[in-house]
Amino acid sequence: MIIALTGAGGSIGTVAVPKILENKEHECRLLFRDTAENRKKIKKLKSRFGNRVRIVFGDISDPESLNKLIRGCDYIIHLAAVIPPKADHDEQLTWKTNYEGTVHLVDSIIENGNSAKLIFFSSVAVYGFRNEAHYWGRVGDPLLPSVFDAYGASKVKAERYILESGLNTWVILRESGVLYDSMMMKNIGDGLLFQTPVNAFIEWITVNDTALLLKQIVSSEPEKEGFWNNIYNIGGGRECRETGYETYNDGFALIGGSAKKIFEPNWHCQRNFHCFWFSDSEKTEEYYHFRTETCKDFWNRFSGNHKLFRLGRLLPPSLIKTLVMKPLLKDKNAPSYWISSGNEARTIAAFESMEKYKAIPESWDEVDLVCEREGYEEMKDHDPRYDLSHGYDESKPEAELDLEDMKEAASFRGGKVMSDTMTPGDMKTKLFWQCHNGHIFASSPYTILKAGHWCPECCSPKEEWNFDALSKHIPFFAQVWYDTHGRDENYIYKVDEKGNLSVEKDVSETED
Ligand SMILES: [Zn+2]
Repeated sequence: MIIALTGAGGSIGTVAVPKILENKEHECRLLFRDTAENRKKIKKLKSRFGNRVRIVFGDISDPESLNKLIRGCDYIIHLAAVIPPKADHDEQLTWKTNYEGTVHLVDSIIENGNSAKLIFFSSVAVYGFRNEAHYWGRVGDPLLPSVFDAYGASKVKAERYILESGLNTWVILRESGVLYDSMMMKNIGDGLLFQTPVNAFIEWITVNDTALLLKQIVSSEPEKEGFWNNIYNIGGGRECRETGYETYNDGFALIGGSAKKIFEPNWHCQRNFHCFWFSDSEKTEEYYHFRTETCKDFWNRFSGNHKLFRLGRLLPPSLIKTLVMKPLLKDKNAPSYWISSGNEARTIAAFESMEKYKAIPESWDEVDLVCEREGYEEMKDHDPRYDLSHGYDESKPEAELDLEDMKEAASFRGGKVMSDTMTPGDMKTKLFWQCHNGHIFASSPYTILKAGHWCPECCSPKEEWNFDALSKHIPFFAQVWYDTHGRDENYIYKVDEKGNLSVEKDVSETED
């Protein structure tokens, strides 16, 4: 098997390539930019795996290097992406890499005969934020990437390009938060650290288990029936389900601290992040059995020899708070900085208003932490009462879904189906749809009913986030949007070419 990878030098790729090459019949072809740092990585790989590692120097934005990368290969694992915190600081690069890079790659595959199987890494960020009203989520749920999150928004568009491209064989993996060894070093210097609400529901997965999943997918003989041409949520399952607060606490516990000693309650966003617990992440586990580590295993595994923790253990928590955390509050990506610098757009997105921000309790004793409630452990077993509706009869076998089901689903999305025929069960052939704003678009029933996408023009943000207005017309969105947004919030959030953010009241949309 020849397995081509983009993003091979990133946090997942670095672990995945050696893992895949444990299988002696595999050869990896890797796309690298020609930099001194990458040359070092390549030298290491070459000395370990010899000619089973081949390098293509180039860039995801260059079709010629992509053609070289994928020619004759069996699988393509597309990991290349700009992720937060970098994605928060360079939106242009994020769109260029995450969206345009995917477009180039998909076009290359089709031009090269469309026989390679594409494994695309998407993200839980496509769904946006959830609080406890709907803390369980699954594939097919609405895609509401957080306001100003270029990473999540670029993944929505990239996914859609794949779904509508006519690729023969693909799979989209919506990866949850990944625990990887250098995550501390990569995040400790950025205000992103404070963007996770303390009551966010996160189903983590470790980088080792992600790498194992990839190895299993490309090593599976015969192919798992029914796996391909689908989207999956990828998470570590019950033992990896935590809240934001618990995650911070796990990390600080290793240096003898705790989140309460090191953070203040109002340092963190209240909303507009992402993550929830997956009610459907068992599906990939059943196919490929890749779960070997829990969150606790992760922290225990690398805590002892990590220099950050060795250093941390020498300092009392109060000093970590003063020396490490407080300076971070002034970072451009930190909620406290948005408040102190009068960044109205960010403040509203993260807190709803200054009043709401000021109402956050000063003492941890007054904060209602979900993870400290009685019955919290039971919350980790999926409860279908928290599932969102997808707007059609899901108990019906897929082979029987027909035009009536499409009409029902379209109406739940505030629009309609324009096509007047559909072969029952044909989830692939595109139909014409119309959104409430009158945009007409061609999409497969899979894209709409199963993948959670809707109008590519008004529901796929890039320069403008308009979910307050959209939710007034789209019950599919409204069922979850109002968990964390007031019905009287009529904001349009905008980002210009230079990355300047703004927010304005939408006067065209007022509550009836
Ligand atoms: Zn539209």
